[in-house]
Amino acid sequence: MDASQYKCPNCGAELVFDPSTQQINCEFCRSEFTVEKIKEIYAAIEPDSPEETALKKDFESHTNLYHCSTCGAEIMAEDDTTATFCYYCHSPVILSGRLTGDFKPSKIIGFHIEREQAVQSFKNWCGKKKFIPSDFKSQQQLEKMTGLYVPFWVTDCNVTADFHAIGKRIRSWSSGSYRYTETKEYSVERVAEIHTEGVPADGQSKIEDILMESIEPFDYTALKPFDMSYFSGFFADKYDVDKAAVFPRIRDRVTQASRNIINNSVSGYSSVSVRNQSYNINKTKWDYIMLPVWFMTYRYKDKIYEFAINGQTGKLAGTPPLDKKRLALSSVIFGAIIAAVTFLGGQLFI
Ligand SMILES: [Zn+2]
Ligand SMILES: [Zn+2]
Repeated sequence: MDASQYKCPNCGAELVFDPSTQQINCEFCRSEFTVEKIKEIYAAIEPDSPEETALKKDFESHTNLYHCSTCGAEIMAEDDTTATFCYYCHSPVILSGRLTGDFKPSKIIGFHIEREQAVQSFKNWCGKKKFIPSDFKSQQQLEKMTGLYVPFWVTDCNVTADFHAIGKRIRSWSSGSYRYTETKEYSVERVAEIHTEGVPADGQSKIEDILMESIEPFDYTALKPFDMSYFSGFFADKYDVDKAAVFPRIRDRVTQASRNIINNSVSGYSSVSVRNQSYNINKTKWDYIMLPVWFMTYRYKDKIYEFAINGQTGKLAGTPPLDKKRLALSSVIFGAIIAAVTFLGGQLFI
């Protein structure tokens, strides 16, 4: 079998066949598959619908990519919107070409907060600060306020769980002057297909995670299928953390969640010793979504500070100061893992 014709169902990288194990491996995200599993997964994949293909073409032909040679930022904009400066470091940017349709987000939350509201929020915020330099609220600075779509990965995964353990039930009783102890050993097996939904990872390393977290939550029920018209007048970050880089983080969370589900299904024993268990993610559906943020950086005493407003709710945060204690309490809606489990039989064998 020529493994190179297949892409990794988890991260999209090239696959390599390993003759020693007869498995197909992904060297990027370290996933492993049997030949049968890969064939089965690929047989089930449906090609893009004509509508999706048209949307990708539309995205390809109407999105420009700009590059900042100072900080390396890559900025996307619709071709009617021209980027002239980098919203991270304020250096000039140059047009560097188009993007492929694979960079088209699948879903997006549009801006609800308008520019004037964002500017007013910033002014109010400045008003409460004691140590604000005089040019802080200058027109020049306010013009750096950028309507920015921030990229985010959200995944649904299919996991195959295989679990073998020995469970013991111990019973003891007295009869006459004898004390009896009976130990029964059970072979406990679990084979399950587990489906997890909505496990997130952010796709942008340039924005401080804590800044993004502090303007959460976004109301994800407002997610809409992406359409080019959302980009009009705004900018978007091209993700710089790709699927292969993010996947180990996703895998850890999904594996842990699956392990908990299996462990919780094993009960009623005095003791359980696990002989072996494996959790393989064999398919990952990626949603590349974009969230609206009014974003501004400012330089003060050679240090760059960031300021952000949730473009959906108006919640704002900036450095300084960030209240880290309060941040720890902020809810992460996408943190919840929804899992559906199908046991494939083999619940319990004596
Ligand atoms: Zn991979
Ligand atoms: Zn830059």
